[in-house]
Amino acid sequence: MTTINKALTIAGSDSGGGAGIQADLKTFQELGVYGMSALTAVTAQNTLGVHGVYPLEPAAVAAQLDAVGADLPPDAVKTGMLFSSSIIGTVADKAREYGWRNLVIDPVMVAKGGSRLLLREAVDALVTRLLPLALVTTPNIPEAEMLTGLQITSLQEREIAAKTIVEMGSRYALIKGGHGARHEPMVDLLYDGRTFRYLESKRIDTRHTHGTGCTYSAALTAALARGFAVEDAMEMAKAFIQAAIEDELGFGEGHGPTNHFA
Ligand code: PLP
Repeated sequence: MTTINKALTIAGSDSGGGAGIQADLKTFQELGVYGMSALTAVTAQNTLGVHGVYPLEPAAVAAQLDAVGADLPPDAVKTGMLFSSSIIGTVADKAREYGWRNLVIDPVMVAKGGSRLLLREAVDALVTRLLPLALVTTPNIPEAEMLTGLQITSLQEREIAAKTIVEMGSRYALIKGGHGARHEPMVDLLYDGRTFRYLESKRIDTRHTHGTGCTYSAALTAALARGFAVEDAMEMAKAFIQAAIEDELGFGEGHGPTNHFA
């Protein structure tokens, strides 16, 4: 019998296949973990944007989490698009019930085209219900601003935001640097409550970055499922997303997906 670790993604579907559940499952597969999924919403989407959002009933989310939790205990879990405070409450209840400790929260809020993937009223629930259960929370800079209420224009302010996220109850904060100013070095910041760790990478000039956040957090989750420490998992995830962005697929007329096969 082969031993393969299992990872669960709780997220929205992207019909275009570049973000959401589809990006997560492809990433899990590429990184050698068995992928499972609980859908929170269906989006009608391609490289030109989000054309429709159809959230599921919280009861449907709960039923999926019970089905997985009762029979297929995951080694790590990530959340992506959660859409509403009622879905967030359901996910938080189930994460507690099943004792999911390797929990990665990717606080997905707005798609690159501007469509809301999390209702404005749900940000509070994300902070109060879910962040206290997180091992790692992985905002980009605009998401870190929304979570903390801070304005982030310098590396020092990123450190303050990371501290705030850890104070909110997440064991680690990972603030991604992709939205930083173009003249600044592109650095991701990891904070564990004691030490700030920076991981610098080369900025790649491309419009094909759809689903990068989802793919990064999925790669992190896969590495955690395989038993790596958060610091090592971050380096593995960074290498995976960097390669996926660098090796363009060039699909679609708009913001195309990254290459999960890279
Ligand atoms: N659609 C879904 C279902 C997602 O979960 C995400 C994740 O952030 C996105 C779209 C975002 O896409 P983009 O990377 O283009 O902002």
